[in-house]
Amino acid sequence: MKKLTQLGLCTLLSLSVLSPISFAENDFSPEEVDDHSSVFTPEEEEAYFKKLAEEGLETTTFRFSQTDWFECSDYVTGNYLNYKCASRRRIASILKDFMDEHLVNCMSQTLAVHNFEQMQELHIVHEGILGDPRHSPRSLHAENRAIDIHSFRVEFESGVNKNFVYTDLSLRPFFSDFRRCWGRAVREHNGCPLIQGNEMLTGSIGWEDANHQRHMHTSVPVCTNGRYSTSFFQR
Ligand SMILES: [Zn+2]
Repeated sequence: MKKLTQLGLCTLLSLSVLSPISFAENDFSPEEVDDHSSVFTPEEEEAYFKKLAEEGLETTTFRFSQTDWFECSDYVTGNYLNYKCASRRRIASILKDFMDEHLVNCMSQTLAVHNFEQMQELHIVHEGILGDPRHSPRSLHAENRAIDIHSFRVEFESGVNKNFVYTDLSLRPFFSDFRRCWGRAVREHNGCPLIQGNEMLTGSIGWEDANHQRHMHTSVPVCTNGRYSTSFFQR
């Protein structure tokens, strides 16, 4: 796992030297908003991995270490919108770690601030994690480092369930607080500076962007020495 990370950093360094593309520190690249068209559906994802396996390439595809999300049985459960939970889904290790720790903490904190009772279980309905790296190689989806969140289903300690759907306008203050918390986690635990000095714009893209009206793009960006990598998108 360590080897993969080191390899990833080397690849990153050489890319940033060779690549003429670079984004200013606080720029919202116009290309960044387009990467979402290439997030795989479950069928496309299956076909993609099948093809890689046939070519014997699966283990060399990613620059950053990967793990599995057991959507049906993990600490945080989930499913792709309108699909059953997947017995396993590939995800970047860092995103999985952030989800298990900081996403859970941020939900607990935000629920407390908005006077909900204590959370017992958390389930994420999403619209994909992996994007087609052939289409958008610099998207964080290409490295499984971003998840497009449709809604959260929370089971409270009383056994009552509530869906927190991203498109519900009455929940905008709730999702704003969640995003600020996530942005703080990305800054404090992954060493990424705030985007435009704004916690809410750090590690997520939401309703302020025309292409993110249906889901909340939630990511763990690539940062080294307190700077965003120029070879990957900032969110
Ligand atoms: Zn996304």
